[in-house]
Amino acid sequence: MIDYHLHTPFCNHATGSMRDYIESAIKKGLAEICFLDHLILAKDLKVPSMIPCEVPLYFLSISELKNCYKDKIKIRSGLEVDFFENKMDIIEEITGEFAFDVIAGSVHFIEIDGKLINIASRRSLDARKNIHPDVIRKKYFEKLNLMIECDYFDTVCHLDLIDRFKHSDGNTSGYRDILKKIKKKDKVLEINTGGYSHKKGAPYPSFDIIKMCYEEGVKVTLGSDAHKPIDVGSKFKETISIVKSIGYKNITGFNKQNSFEIKI
Ligand SMILES: [Zn+2]
Ligand SMILES: [Zn+2]
Repeated sequence: MIDYHLHTPFCNHATGSMRDYIESAIKKGLAEICFLDHLILAKDLKVPSMIPCEVPLYFLSISELKNCYKDKIKIRSGLEVDFFENKMDIIEEITGEFAFDVIAGSVHFIEIDGKLINIASRRSLDARKNIHPDVIRKKYFEKLNLMIECDYFDTVCHLDLIDRFKHSDGNTSGYRDILKKIKKKDKVLEINTGGYSHKKGAPYPSFDIIKMCYEEGVKVTLGSDAHKPIDVGSKFKETISIVKSIGYKNITGFNKQNSFEIKI
């Protein structure tokens, strides 16, 4: 089993050392993990992310740990990069000189009337109160579409994060077209079990959408989005058994941005 979405202290809002995450993964019997910490380039925002000049140290730290633990567990290096369409050049410049295994794309922020709203933050609920949910949804989908167009990304994280503060039976309309585009662009969709500990009570995306993924032939990978070592591999057993019952026989891993299949 693999966990392709682990945070680290570099993002300033995850607890435990990188070694603690690795030890937790070994204890839980995982064969492979990928650090996927935040790189968010949003100006004028106190962002929960490493800053660009920390990218080299982050990459080196993973490389060292890869080596240290090579007899016990396979460790991959990745980044969870927030998509900002006008920042892609600089993001590519910052990350381009490092041979990351995975570059994952996330949309946590949308811009409405010049203001950035973090759709994944409880603190943004006040700012969202006066905006019609359809407007927020439309903006979110616009951004997702642009991100999927972008060749820079290998995977798409937590596709229905917009439903973080709702129960799992969210509105699935609009996702079919997005999934067709993900397939066309040959990207991999992440199944993120972090949603189990949110109000949603289900993975991102919901099983209804994972079913659509399967129908559209979209490949999937798996991540816990752990911000604490104890959450590594959380809810994987139940998630995998449902993913298998949907029809999937493999999940996808990455080596230097080349995908490979892992039997489940
Ligand atoms: Zn995220
Ligand atoms: Zn994350």
